Amino acid sequence: MKIPHVFPWLGEEEIIALGATIESNWITEGPRSSEFVNKFNQLLGTQYGVFAPNGTLALYLGLLALGIGPEDEVLVPDCTFIASANAVLMTGAKPVFVEVNDYNFQIDIPKCEYLVTSRTRAIMPVHLYGMAANMTKVINFAQRHNLRVIEDTAQAIGVKYKGKSAGSFGDVGCFSFFADKTIATGEGGFVVCREQQIYEKLEQLRNQGRLERGSYIHPTVGFNFRFTDLQAAVGLVQLHRLSAIIRRKQTILEWYHKYLDDLNEVTFLKVEPGSNFIPHRVVIFCDRAHQLMAYLSEQGVQCRTVFYPLHKQPCFAYLGKAQGGTLDLDDDNYPNAVYAYEHGVALPVFPTLSEEQVSYIGDCIKEFFSFSVHQG
Ligand SMILES: *Cc1c(COP(=O)(O)O)cnc(C)c1O
Repeated sequence: MKIPHVFPWLGEEEIIALGATIESNWITEGPRSSEFVNKFNQLLGTQYGVFAPNGTLALYLGLLALGIGPEDEVLVPDCTFIASANAVLMTGAKPVFVEVNDYNFQIDIPKCEYLVTSRTRAIMPVHLYGMAANMTKVINFAQRHNLRVIEDTAQAIGVKYKGKSAGSFGDVGCFSFFADKTIATGEGGFVVCREQQIYEKLEQLRNQGRLERGSYIHPTVGFNFRFTDLQAAVGLVQLHRLSAIIRRKQTILEWYHKYLDDLNEVTFLKVEPGSNFIPHRVVIFCDRAHQLMAYLSEQGVQCRTVFYPLHKQPCFAYLGKAQGGTLDLDDDNYPNAVYAYEHGVALPVFPTLSEEQVSYIGDCIKEFFSFSVHQG
């Protein structure tokens, strides 16, 4: 059996919606994009939102709108996709990597306390793998230190924390519609915010520094971060399907539990109290995780590691003290992020994965461990 890691759920409805958009002859950001903005805001319970070309640029745009730039520092969890930190670097600011907790590897607020300096301007919680970070602690911490909050919600569309949407707690919340996210438009990003002032900044920054389209007078410097109605047409169908996507992902998670809960060698991510869980991946932890992934790959099951800790990234070594930077990038400061990488296995949870496929993955994992036992 061959099981891919990612498989977007696209069908006839998307084809029809795309065809209708082409027939309408309006392919740039237009009526379908506006409709999507309204519906996405409705979904999140937010007042303001704008598109970005992708999730990385959504984070960059959000940071710029908050005035983050050179000389500033932003707290970023050590266990995340590298885009979280790269967006900070794009602004000229410095990402400061924070150790994560030991049960679901989200940003660890007590550790943040030691990393705050006079230059710290913002904290970027990442709602990792489809569950919310502890936003009560994040917001409380940010208020105490007078920091902005930018939520990386790329992996948590539809996730709620204490009844409120992930992405709607901070000053800005950023989303991605890449092919492996809960809603897929190929590429795509979105930024929501609460304050009208920030909204206007977002609009100016993404539209060549002006609020009016078609005017050639530009009060501020801005860029082109527009979307297309081709993507929005697909996105509207995906939004319509969102509750079905969520149901399926949660059912698949139940199947994984059904087939793996009796296996002592394996544990699952612990869900953050107050958050629901719409798995972006099903992450399990075990000994010999990397050998297990090699075995699964031989059996046709495509898996991924947990994110390589940011403090270990070759491309960020220059930020460390050893290379003249200011960060203390020693592994000893990040045992949980290192543990997650060494012991984690990310399994597929795309919406059309069948119970037969999950059962097969379960069998392969059990086989691997029984084989390991026999080998002593
Ligand atoms: C996918 C992702 C991003 C970046 O989104 P793109 O649309 O791929 O640019 C940022 N942060 C996290 C946590 C992600 O998973």
